[in-house]
Amino acid sequence: MFVDSHCHLDFPDLASNLDALLGKMRENDVSHALCVSVNLEDFPRVLALAETHSNLFASVGVHPDYENLAEPQAAHLASLADHPRVIAIGETGLDYFRLKGDLEWQRERFRQHIRAARQCGKPLIIHTREAAADTLRIMAEEGADSVGGVMHCFTESWEVAQQAMEMNFYISFSGIVTFKKALALKDVAKRIKLERMLIETDSPYLAPVPHRGKINQPAFVRYVAEEIAVLRGISVDEVATATTSNFFNLFKAA
Ligand SMILES: [Zn+2]
Ligand SMILES: [Zn+2]
Repeated sequence: MFVDSHCHLDFPDLASNLDALLGKMRENDVSHALCVSVNLEDFPRVLALAETHSNLFASVGVHPDYENLAEPQAAHLASLADHPRVIAIGETGLDYFRLKGDLEWQRERFRQHIRAARQCGKPLIIHTREAAADTLRIMAEEGADSVGGVMHCFTESWEVAQQAMEMNFYISFSGIVTFKKALALKDVAKRIKLERMLIETDSPYLAPVPHRGKINQPAFVRYVAEEIAVLRGISVDEVATATTSNFFNLFKAA
């Protein structure tokens, strides 16, 4: 059985087709999926998915790409996370690719999320793009290692992966690892311990080969696992068993 550790089933492209997507998950042995929150306005819809379907979980957080919002405070995030179906804080982090200029607000928002995770004792889902050094620095300054979490949709170097793992973080691979040109990332997927690995789709984005360019869905997480199995010269079952047990160990989900 596979678990999709990161998807956005509340986004319109997927929400409008939910029953079919849940059916595809069953057909492809994808037992569970974590529906990741990107802003507080839409959080009730993410939570509703997890309350309605026993194999879906929710997180709560405000993505670094959402500008001009009322800034979430740690205590508020922690109170929203005080729910049995909410298993993580995020997605949060830094994104210097999408947004430019003075991004101090992004760094402050990230700090609030780490504090919230520490208050409620739930792990973090971290997004980082062209901001690895600041991301790792703030994780260290705020004591993110005490709750741990996942570096989602990982696209950074082996050195960044090592530093994140030293802070108790898992590394999650998306469909990007199936792309022909992603050689450095394939190398990271070969080198890291299986005990530190998660897999995800980040659907509706980033559909893996052979569906690249289409709308992604949780069932496609099996292509990510298949690519990792080929890279490492092990069976898909081994990748599935490890990443699924890592998911339940990290998120203490049931
Ligand atoms: Zn992300
Ligand atoms: Zn995401």
